[in-house]
Amino acid sequence: MAIHNLRVVSERATPLLQVDGVSLEYRTPERIVRATHRVSFDVHAGDRFVLLGPSGCGKSTLLKAVAGFVPPSEGEIRLEGRRVLQPGPDRIVVFQEFDQLPPWQTVAQNVMFPLRQARKLSRAEARELALDSLHKVGLAGFADAYPHTLSGGMKQRVAIARALAMRPKVLLMDEPFAALDALTRRRMQEELLALWDDAAFTLLFVTHSIEEALVVGSRILLLSPHPGRVRAELNSHQFSLASQGGAEFQAAAQRIHTLLFDEPAAEAAPRARSAAGR
Ligand code: ADP
Ligand code: MG
Repeated sequence: MAIHNLRVVSERATPLLQVDGVSLEYRTPERIVRATHRVSFDVHAGDRFVLLGPSGCGKSTLLKAVAGFVPPSEGEIRLEGRRVLQPGPDRIVVFQEFDQLPPWQTVAQNVMFPLRQARKLSRAEARELALDSLHKVGLAGFADAYPHTLSGGMKQRVAIARALAMRPKVLLMDEPFAALDALTRRRMQEELLALWDDAAFTLLFVTHSIEEALVVGSRILLLSPHPGRVRAELNSHQFSLASQGGAEFQAAAQRIHTLLFDEPAAEAAPRARSAAGR
């Protein structure tokens, strides 16, 4: 039985991460593209917070803004009450692409690199942490392999090990399993939840898959199509891989589908909030 269902988050504690009325824009030579419109949400320590919405609704841009790569055109983002103004080792991103590992470095060197650069650890300290982190994702035996010899799932495990070794305040994941086959994807979701049980990190996870959101998330923020606005926020800690396919799971998936695609945003948000509670 998953322990993560029992974790209680205090309502009164200051949120670890606050996204407060954030609009994000891209300026191209021809026009301004609005990616999100006044999006607000709070992530508490230990949350598995999922941003869910259709392609193009600004999920990746929101994650990049939290990472400090894209400044808000409106609103602000705060981590532990301090405004996010630039990237930092307290927010690490795992991307979808399998080519996030420099191919000329071994697996261990890949994991060690940011520990040496950003956390200024010695070679020996970095290697020890890297091996420990690789062990946690089941890749202890591949420390000296090169990325091109690994499968897609193994490369994503290395990227996760590299991110977790940095002990970020928030681990940011942008559709990290989307390019994997269905069985590997399922296994990776399971492993991520086991890692979370073990290491108790805070996760901000982006997906366009309703099922993945229900399995991975403890809270889900639903975003409307382009430009992304908040449609609703739901609890989902009661669901796991084991409940996938069950009646309650199917009903939740259907309700989310309706909220995302069938209802006008202005009506949907308050009703969904009161129905889901916190
Ligand atoms: P999602 O991750 O939800 O699919 P994105 O955050 O990637 O959405 O994109 C949100 C919107 O911003 C889309 O309309 C996309 O076309 C636009 N966009 C993304 N990146 C850029 C860019 N570099 N320049 C201009 N527009 C962009
Ligand atoms: Mg995206």
